[in-house]
Amino acid sequence: MVFKCIDSCGKCCGPILFTREEWEKHRYLLPPCVYIDYIGDRIVPQTEKCPFLTKEKQCMIYDDRPEVCRLFGVDERLPCPYLKPNGKPRSKASQKQVERMQNKKLDLLIKKAEEELDLKQLRENKNNNGNKT
Ligand code: SF4
Ligand code: SF4
Repeated sequence: MVFKCIDSCGKCCGPILFTREEWEKHRYLLPPCVYIDYIGDRIVPQTEKCPFLTKEKQCMIYDDRPEVCRLFGVDERLPCPYLKPNGKPRSKASQKQVERMQNKKLDLLIKKAEEELDLKQLRENKNNNGNKT
């Protein structure tokens, strides 16, 4: 059985990082007002969810979705809480385990971001103090 997302799920649909090629190939499907930013050579849409996810939570480009989306559920680092890598449904216990793991990862990411913000604030304070003397 091949892994295929649950219809109208979209739980892990970003926003994700697109390669320039992936973005250019499909951007014509989007309204012109979608803002983007760059992380290195990757494009990050400035939207709450991936702009290719419709209101009905369907991926507009599912059959040609970016590489990272193809790893969702299949790669052990990006597990799907609902389906196993072979596409079969998870048990409730397994679902809870994946959700716990994802929450933990999110906590770590938030903590890292907070630490970076603290460092930024410290640097700014130091610079401001330095400018006063
Ligand atoms: S990988 Fe799983 S959680 Fe993510 S959209 Fe597909 S079915 Fe939903
Ligand atoms: S491209 Fe499709 S599968 Fe990938 S995050 Fe966007 S909506 Fe989800």
